[in-house]
Amino acid sequence: MATSSAQFASEFSNPNLEVLLSEEQIQARIKELGTQLTHDYAGLNPLLIGVLKGACFFLSDLMRAIDTRVSVEFMAISSYGSSTRTSGEVRIMKDLDVPIEGRHILVVEDIVDTGLTLSYLLANLHARGAASVKLAALLDKFERRQREVQIDYLGFRIPDEFVVGYGLDFAERYRNLPFIAVLKDPNAD
Ligand code: 5GP
Repeated sequence: MATSSAQFASEFSNPNLEVLLSEEQIQARIKELGTQLTHDYAGLNPLLIGVLKGACFFLSDLMRAIDTRVSVEFMAISSYGSSTRTSGEVRIMKDLDVPIEGRHILVVEDIVDTGLTLSYLLANLHARGAASVKLAALLDKFERRQREVQIDYLGFRIPDEFVVGYGLDFAERYRNLPFIAVLKDPNAD
């Protein structure tokens, strides 16, 4: 079977990627957020809700930086649109397995872009009778906001560029990068 050398090339040093946030920067910021969350949620037994799939990496590192009792659940949401732009239509593909009435909820998301997905999700969770609903987001692409979303715990503000890595994908690729990078040419191999 014929194989191309591109199949075996390093993904982490792919020349189509420009590192925006290094692994060290990400992990250091998560430690800081974890310390803050440990303090803010002590004794509240918060339920962390990770939004699949992109937030998994941030969620698992963040959770291990929180030194108080916590639980975790996952939701999957699809927003329609092209692979690099969201359209604003939102649908819940996987819902929570538990009721959240009276619980302190911390939604954990990879990136807030237009804010359409999060504003829908946060309103939906509030309507279920949660005691509180707050948001932790690793990245904030603030220049593109269409709907106001309060980010209670933020990793980094980033410019209006399409980014991949640390859970964020382009057509399911690049989630495994330990850093965040700008994808220079989405059409390049
Ligand atoms: P919003 O509803 O805020 O516009 O979109 C949020 C979702 O769009 C994110 O959870 C993410 O899946 C996707 N998204 C927005 N910007 C980017 C980006 O720069 N890179 C990647 N990979 N996904 C993005």
